[in-house]
Amino acid sequence: MDFPEKFDLAIVGAGILGLACALAAARRKLKVVVIERDTRPRKASIRNFGFITVTGQDREDVWSRARRSRDVWREVATKAGILIVQTGQWVAAQRPEAAAVLEAFMRTDMADGCELLTGTEARQRCPDLQTSGLQAVLWSPHELRVESREAIPLLADWLALDHGVTFLWETAAHSVAPAHIDTSRGPIPTGATIVCPGDDLVSLYPDRLARAGIGHCVLQMLRLESPGFRLPGTVLSDLSLIRYGGFSTLPEADLLRRRLESEQSELIQHGIHLIVAQGADGSLVVGDSHHYDAAGFASERIYALLLNEYAAVIGHPPPPVRERWSGSYAVANNRVLLIEEPAPNVRLVLVTSGIGASTGFAIGEEVINGLFH
Ligand SMILES: Cc1cc2nc3c(=O)[nH]c(=O)nc-3n(C[C@H](O)[C@H](O)[C@H](O)COP(=O)(O)OP(=O)(O)OC[C@H]3O[C@@H](n4cnc5c(N)ncnc54)[C@H](O)[C@@H]3O)c2cc1C
Repeated sequence: MDFPEKFDLAIVGAGILGLACALAAARRKLKVVVIERDTRPRKASIRNFGFITVTGQDREDVWSRARRSRDVWREVATKAGILIVQTGQWVAAQRPEAAAVLEAFMRTDMADGCELLTGTEARQRCPDLQTSGLQAVLWSPHELRVESREAIPLLADWLALDHGVTFLWETAAHSVAPAHIDTSRGPIPTGATIVCPGDDLVSLYPDRLARAGIGHCVLQMLRLESPGFRLPGTVLSDLSLIRYGGFSTLPEADLLRRRLESEQSELIQHGIHLIVAQGADGSLVVGDSHHYDAAGFASERIYALLLNEYAAVIGHPPPPVRERWSGSYAVANNRVLLIEEPAPNVRLVLVTSGIGASTGFAIGEEVINGLFH
């Protein structure tokens, strides 16, 4: 394939991070090409909950990026024809220790716009959720949910049609040189390159990624048939309060952690925390577990633990399972984001935590601002 014209920017990877970089670059009127090995986005960015989480995110690295990204999602959704299928988050505390974490959270500035409901108030507001032991509920209006498997392809189509971004599907990037990028379709001339490989840690810069200690996290997910009612928002439970940094770093989380470690040790061992997100057709995406050395074989035991937790938190037996799948993303122990400059005008960018859907647009803007100041 011949490319007579030079692109200003080549982006490797058409996941949310690559597309977010493409959007930020296209808004600066740069000539952009996205190089993607698959026929369409197929990796983490379409296998997640599509849950743009704001409340409960770690203050340091994530919270402000999540708020900015949520705003971009909202703006882009209208233009790209992406349906916002759910808004808000409903954190259901089943234990007094979990309610104490929510009360402490409400005293922080990150609770702006949130409400803390008693169990009785929560049941009045959403009688369909029938747990009798509900201690308190944190209602946050700040979240959005999209159906990722539809939203990400729509985003790519819109970038191509409305912003003139060129997409080379079924094209693998082999190496990055100063003025071009070598691909399975030949060299592509470019002034700058951003590599957003997701959890492909071997094709480009493998030594650099190994030195940075990047690994994989594998998650198991389910889609259930509609329960016959609408959830008040995406539902989380006590386990999420020891996982999301905005909650888990509060001193009150220590007591909850200890109680959960004694009562739910198997779930904790599998990195399970419950998220139940609802689609436009009423179906429920339920997850997730976290394994860092898994070969990718899905375990029925983990699905059973997830479904038990669903029943305890929602107060109904789970509807039939429609789909099961797993996904994986890149992880590092000590950071949520890796941005490196392996050569002048080249950036290597990985989200190294399960937050790329929630933070991708803000990261894309930061990377483009750093590369084209
Ligand atoms: C099950 C699951 C649940 C999740 N839940 C949430 C959530 O609730 N909220 C949230 O914010 N985040 C969530 N995440 C995390 C989020 O999905 C990821 O952080 C995000 O999708 C990463 O985006 P990415 O673009 O970096 O990677 P990817 O989506 O993996 O995209 C990388 C792309 O690069 C391509 N590629 C790689 N190397 C090459 C090459 N050499 N040449 C050509 N193409 C290449 C790949 O084919 C791939 O399409 C979840 C993830 C999973 C798996």
